[in-house]
Amino acid sequence: MFTVDSLYTLLDEICEKEYIFGEGQNGEEEFRKHLFNHMLEIYGESNVKEKYRINTNLYKQKKHEEIDIILRTPDGIMPIELKYQHKKGYTKRVNASYYFLEDVCSIEHYLSSQNAFSHIGYAVLMTDDSGYWENDNSGTAAREFNLRNGRIISDKLTWYHGTGEPHKKLTPLSFQSSYRIAWRCGLCKRYLHGIQNCNCNSFRFRYTVVKIDKNEFIEV
Ligand SMILES: [Zn+2]
Repeated sequence: MFTVDSLYTLLDEICEKEYIFGEGQNGEEEFRKHLFNHMLEIYGESNVKEKYRINTNLYKQKKHEEIDIILRTPDGIMPIELKYQHKKGYTKRVNASYYFLEDVCSIEHYLSSQNAFSHIGYAVLMTDDSGYWENDNSGTAAREFNLRNGRIISDKLTWYHGTGEPHKKLTPLSFQSSYRIAWRCGLCKRYLHGIQNCNCNSFRFRYTVVKIDKNEFIEV
């Protein structure tokens, strides 16, 4: 059975071996490939797919969306969405935080609207940018989409510009459950507590996994 611990084991290995993938979209693809190949070895070709295409007619303007990795389980299709950020600084961090939380919303949508899906999915963010867990963000959007350690994500998050105007393209994100952001170090295999770091090399990668469980959604 694939649990959150199975995912930790795979992600810890990436941290331990100090893989560093490329920048931007490339890095994310390399990260996906790497995790995908490991899952293939364990779960087999018929059970794991990457860039899994689904119909999103009712959800987004786009007709199709690609899920980074899916695993077929007895309970249905389990979606895993990945984000990877290699040393990008403030602006990239705020944008990546938005898109990571958007992944959480997308998974919520897949689980609740499509019968073929399992009741559980995961969103993963892997980064060596300590600004995420150390919370050195400032500015309205940065505060709204902040992924500091221990933060609870819930309800609705809106991207406001400094002028108070909402962002025209980055639409508000509404959540069907609440999620606690917990950063984990793959070297000492521990959660970071408070805003402190662990004693491992601070330039190394940390990750956060959000587990989305349909059974915990708020009934509307
Ligand atoms: Zn550590």
